[in-house]
Amino acid sequence: MEKKFRIDFDESNVLESVTYTLVSEFNLKPNVLRADIAGDGSGIMLLSIEGDRDDIIRGMTHLREQGFGVKELKGHIFHDYDRCWSCGACTSLCPTRSIYYDPDTMVVKLNTGTCIACGSCINACCVKAIQLEL
Ligand code: SF4
Ligand code: SF4
Repeated sequence: MEKKFRIDFDESNVLESVTYTLVSEFNLKPNVLRADIAGDGSGIMLLSIEGDRDDIIRGMTHLREQGFGVKELKGHIFHDYDRCWSCGACTSLCPTRSIYYDPDTMVVKLNTGTCIACGSCINACCVKAIQLEL
C-alpha cells in the first residue's frame, strides 16, 4: 500500500537518516515529494511511502518516538472553479505541481490524480477557492 505523510523536524541533518531508517529497518520505499528547511535547520518533509501496512505503522511509530512530528495526509482537495480567479498564488507552493496554470485555457487547474492533499496551497488563496475535504 501507499500512504503519504508530513514529517516535521528540528534539525536538517536528520533528513537522510529518516529515509535510510525507513528503508533499512522497516523495509519501506520512501519518496521525498518535498523538503523545506528554514534557516534554523527546522523544516518539513512530505513523504510518499510504499510498503506493508504494518511496516508503515511501525516506521511511523519509530519516527514519533524519535521526536519527529508525523501526520498522515488524508482526504482530498476541492478546487472551487467558481471562486477561483486564477491569480496563481497557490501554484508555486505545490510540491507535486498538481495545481497549475494552464496556458491554453488561461486558468489555474487542479490535477486530482497527483494531488497528495498536503494542504500547502490552501492558505495562499485569499478567496478560499481551495478546501481540504476529509
Ligand atoms: S494540496 Fe495543494 S499544494 Fe498539496 S499537492 Fe494538492 S494541490 Fe498541491
Ligand atoms: S490562490 Fe485561489 S484564486 Fe488564486 S489561483 Fe489559487 S485557487 Fe485560484
